[in-house]
Amino acid sequence: MSLAPLLLRMARLQPDAPALYDGTRLHASYREWAAHSAGLALRLRAAGLQPGDRVLLFMHNHPRYLELLWGAWWAGLAVVPVNAKLHPREVAWIAADAQARWAFVSADLAPDPVAGLERQIDIASAAADELLAPVAEAAAVPLAERQPQDLAWLFYTSGTTGRPKGVMITHRNLMTMGLGYFADVDAIAAGDAIAYAAPMSHGAGLYAIPHLMAGARHVVPASGGFDAAELFALGRQLGPLSLFAAPTIVKRLVDHAEQAGLDEAAAARGFKTIVYGGAPMYAADIRRALRVMGPRFVQIYGQGETPMTGTALSRHHLQDSGHPRHLARLASVGVAQTPVQVRVADAAGRALPPGEVGEVLVRGDSVMAGYWRNPEATAAALREGWLWTGDVGCLDADGFLTLKDRSKDLIISGGSNIYPREVEEVLLTWPGVAEAAVVGMPDAEWGELVVAFVVPQPGAAPTPAQLDAHCLAQLARFKRPRRYELVDALPKNHYGKVLKTALRERLAATRRP
Ligand code: AMP
Repeated sequence: MSLAPLLLRMARLQPDAPALYDGTRLHASYREWAAHSAGLALRLRAAGLQPGDRVLLFMHNHPRYLELLWGAWWAGLAVVPVNAKLHPREVAWIAADAQARWAFVSADLAPDPVAGLERQIDIASAAADELLAPVAEAAAVPLAERQPQDLAWLFYTSGTTGRPKGVMITHRNLMTMGLGYFADVDAIAAGDAIAYAAPMSHGAGLYAIPHLMAGARHVVPASGGFDAAELFALGRQLGPLSLFAAPTIVKRLVDHAEQAGLDEAAAARGFKTIVYGGAPMYAADIRRALRVMGPRFVQIYGQGETPMTGTALSRHHLQDSGHPRHLARLASVGVAQTPVQVRVADAAGRALPPGEVGEVLVRGDSVMAGYWRNPEATAAALREGWLWTGDVGCLDADGFLTLKDRSKDLIISGGSNIYPREVEEVLLTWPGVAEAAVVGMPDAEWGELVVAFVVPQPGAAPTPAQLDAHCLAQLARFKRPRRYELVDALPKNHYGKVLKTALRERLAATRRP
């Protein structure tokens, strides 16, 4: 079993249906997509690449991403998706660790050869055209024999500390994730369209799988990334679109809709479903998003180790404002997705009762096979079938999971646990606050002190006294920030996650004599 036959299946079922778009331009029908991918598989094999070998993709979002992905799978290879924003030295490290043989790259990202590779192909070159040249009959190119537990996607975690780890994602993992989309996220019809406004090297790219299962259209914005005005325009022309977006991107989409005076009807024409996740979405932000753009949101929680598959907060639950626990549910990440079990556990792995805070564990067919060539890290993360996510949260009696924080982000001040997320939620309800991030600062007396970094709304200038009064009105006294830092922007990683480590380092630097 592998993911490769999904493409052949769809190419037979609807050969002439539009499949891949480069902006508004049709790039390939399903027949053509399969012909390109099968052609690539044929040539990879002829060049001596063997099933199980790794091929690196270090490129901007492009329709060719999907041709390369399925071509590699057709030949039985595993793909190493590399974030386009990584430094060449980081890429070289990943290529060596993964023992990758070939790489397909966007020329501007890798002007020099990545060390250790046998071959590096610029995806816009004549060499790439030759490798991807369509065969007359895709079905005539044999699909490599693969097992469900074979490696499909070797994903390097962003790794805020230390070296990134290669997460081994198998064909079964991705098949489970793909089928789970239909059960927990959304129905997909053949005429639907998914837009890739987030990096295809991450979860957003994996959503190609359910959309291929349903024979939908795959649209890569001409900008290759996120531009709110472009997405609205694409939505009008090819939509309504579905897409995956990190919370910061959702925020910018909603800002754009508001500033451009687009009403809910305009949002409905452009967007079918906006799946958000990957970082906390604050209750105040999702309420505004729902108000401005209507019922087109679904939240998912997952991590590279169980891609896109942990919990989901459905469209229905996001809308169900009459429910007595609606507000609590809005601040949650929803319930376990159909293919997995979710547990909140104590340090020994025992399930904790509702309301108690512990580490979030996930078990099911979406969970990684382990870390590549790293048995120690694998043994720490996978215990008796459960994935220890490093996230901290609690379940309610109905199974809704509320994340508190990453375990390392927890602040302990005067012996009390403070979850930054709770303080951030409160700060964000102050009208002049656009973004907030709360971290702990070492303190001789208290162990740690709560410090809030606040990005004011344009034109606003909240004072520490105002923010303090606001927090005191809503939070236990010991949780309120003792120091406020007004900043223009928060440091974020390539996926839009706030880098709390960088904030802590900034504080440490200001304390040095
Ligand atoms: P990554 O492996 O880079 O995708 O990062 C996964 C981490 O992002 C998770 O372990 C969580 O800490 C965080 N995360 C993912 N989805 C959500 C969500 N819906 N809400 C809050 N945090 C999330």
